[in-house]
Amino acid sequence: MDKQRIRIRYQGVVQGVGFRPHIYRLAKAYKLCGWVNNDPSGVMVEVEGKREDIENFLKASIDKAPVLARIKSVEHSQIEPNGEKEFIIRESAQNAVVSTQVSSDACTCEDCLKELFEPKDRRYRYPFINCTNCGPRFTIIERIPYDRPYTTMKVFRMCAECEAEYHNPLNRRFHAQPNGCAVCGPRLLLLDREGKEVSGDAIKKSVELLRAGKIIAVKSLGGYQFACDALNEGAVRELRARKIREDKPFAVMAENIEAVLRYAEISEKEKEVLLSAERPIVLLKKKLSPTLAESVAPRQKNYGFMLPYTPLHHLLLKESGMILVMTSGNLSDEPIAFVDEEAMARLKGIADYFLTHNRPIYIRCDDSVVRVFEERLYPVRRARGYVPRPLEVQFPEKGSLLAVGGQLKNTFAMTKFGQVILSHHIGDLDNLETLKAFEQGIEHFKQIFEIVPEMVVYDLHPDYLSTQYALSLELPKLGVQHHYAHIAGVMAEHNLSGKVIGVAMDGTGYGTDGRIWGGEFLIADYDGFERKAHLEYVPMPGGEKAIKQAWRMALVWLDKIYGEELWELGIKFLEKIEPGQGELILEASRKGINSPLTSSMGRLFDAVSALINVCQVANYEGQPAIELEMIGDEQAPGYYEFHYQEKDGRIIIKPEPVIEQIVKDLRETQPKEQISAKFHNGVSKMVVWGCERIREETGINEVVLGGGVFQNFWLLGRIKNWLSEKKFRVYVHHQVPTNDGGIALGQAIIGLRRMRDVLSGANEG
Ligand code: ZN
Ligand code: ZN
Ligand code: FE
Repeated sequence: MDKQRIRIRYQGVVQGVGFRPHIYRLAKAYKLCGWVNNDPSGVMVEVEGKREDIENFLKASIDKAPVLARIKSVEHSQIEPNGEKEFIIRESAQNAVVSTQVSSDACTCEDCLKELFEPKDRRYRYPFINCTNCGPRFTIIERIPYDRPYTTMKVFRMCAECEAEYHNPLNRRFHAQPNGCAVCGPRLLLLDREGKEVSGDAIKKSVELLRAGKIIAVKSLGGYQFACDALNEGAVRELRARKIREDKPFAVMAENIEAVLRYAEISEKEKEVLLSAERPIVLLKKKLSPTLAESVAPRQKNYGFMLPYTPLHHLLLKESGMILVMTSGNLSDEPIAFVDEEAMARLKGIADYFLTHNRPIYIRCDDSVVRVFEERLYPVRRARGYVPRPLEVQFPEKGSLLAVGGQLKNTFAMTKFGQVILSHHIGDLDNLETLKAFEQGIEHFKQIFEIVPEMVVYDLHPDYLSTQYALSLELPKLGVQHHYAHIAGVMAEHNLSGKVIGVAMDGTGYGTDGRIWGGEFLIADYDGFERKAHLEYVPMPGGEKAIKQAWRMALVWLDKIYGEELWELGIKFLEKIEPGQGELILEASRKGINSPLTSSMGRLFDAVSALINVCQVANYEGQPAIELEMIGDEQAPGYYEFHYQEKDGRIIIKPEPVIEQIVKDLRETQPKEQISAKFHNGVSKMVVWGCERIREETGINEVVLGGGVFQNFWLLGRIKNWLSEKKFRVYVHHQVPTNDGGIALGQAIIGLRRMRDVLSGANEG
């Protein structure tokens, strides 16, 4: 007979995205028999029918895959026909050892939006509408397989109508695990600070309160957010005061692209990213007028805009027509609250009201933040929408390991079958709450991806809590230098296997000599690195304190150049420093008391920012450097020159002349906009010089830029352009942040590369 049967295995993001109904519909359309099933490694299908129909089916199954699916591989083989008469969707086996890719949370789809605003629809204004093409995933999944009893939706019993949709393969909600409606699903609640429900329509009432300048804690997908009127300076300032967040910009949410366009410029690519299913916060250039309330993003050139991504957001934004501040629901630097009782307790000093609901969030997940650089994504914080999708990196080593990341902006990574899965943004591991989130996150990922790490990779900094956690595990271990990890991560994204010039411009990272690095030129490949050039070491008086009190770094540089005479320089910077305190700090730094040596570029930016009176004390990480960038006149010409010194084949880059020239310009009362420009230009020239110098010696043409300083777009753009003019090939991150949120990727890649050696070493030892 002409009947044939094949077995097909689809791998990638194919569960929880409507893949089985898609297969079902196609099988029906091509009159094929057989079955489809979710199994440990993806979706398995058997189809039987005419050869031609099978071929068409196979092609259509890939070409017309559901929007949220990402097929990584398709394998098929011929098997014996068995004469089945129909096509069925098999239930996932209850106790199957399942491991496949849990998909990420996706914004409300067009079809659901239509229903949401259609008065005749049974889900009209229902704030939890979703379907197989949209809605919560990662944040509600407790364990695998992705079935309703294993999500936080298990407490809701579907009504007859929802149940019918759920079981109808031709319905958009077939096996949509978070399916529900006003009759049977999660319910919205507006509570006052005391937890008392406010009567009336929760959305309409919330809109009234927001208009009146109130602050509402809104329960979103991955945690609580604070919302208030972004045009009401009083409300925004009040939120800052209560949240104890002095300066760090707030993200805002607008109803649609048109609303964003009133306040910010948007390129085509930025528009695409704003509208993408991930719905990140996108940093966009502010328009000069009109503006949002000044306190939304003080002294910034950008606004962080996002569009609504849950039905609840859509309702709030559409019915208010407002622009809303939509910032993490936390106090200061704590992680965002996501458990209801805890949120009420923690946030009631900040929010006037709570717009909440009874669908639990299983795992906390912040909003993602991205920029667009040269028409491509340039992530700042990778979380909701992107996580836990595996990174697109290719690596032949298939082992499983855990890379614990750094201390600040922590993310961790795990590998399996040659794939790297980067966790959501966990945060700064300096409080108990975040550390708990880090440890629980690791356990959760091990479970949902069924990963049993064979080794652990960590940063060399002995004080990082991630490092201490790694060292406490009973697994073979590998320490990877911080900046090498920054560089290796970029290499992995671009599949670079040869030697590169790695330029790591960073805040702080522990060096192999026990000093704090951060202005580094490395010659690197996956097997190792050589430190070819770096900024000259200077003391950081008070250690960590010198990071917050940027003026200490300025003082140290002045001391290095002028000694005692620095007090006679007559520059404004000195007026703000009490000579007594200044002397004490210098004494400590000269004697090396609690003054670790650093070659950090971040600290040099801090020093310059403080020296020219832009920002003396950081209220958030990187503030002095960010504000130095923001005030600069990008068109201004001129540059400051560094000096270079060669010693034992290594180049020491000396900033003294830069500082001297700045002091001279300050005394001649040059505007700081121009001083900032000359500094940015000077650093850019220095980087180009360094790369050219290393190319002369090594012939290497590939330059990799990594580290937190490259969040500075002006510097990044200038360096990339100038290097390209000199015919270098230049690479930056596009999938993970260039800050410490990305180093787990570099750790993972180097770990995979060394895995066999480390494991065999462990066996011998
Ligand atoms: Zn939908
Ligand atoms: Zn229902
Ligand atoms: Fe770093």
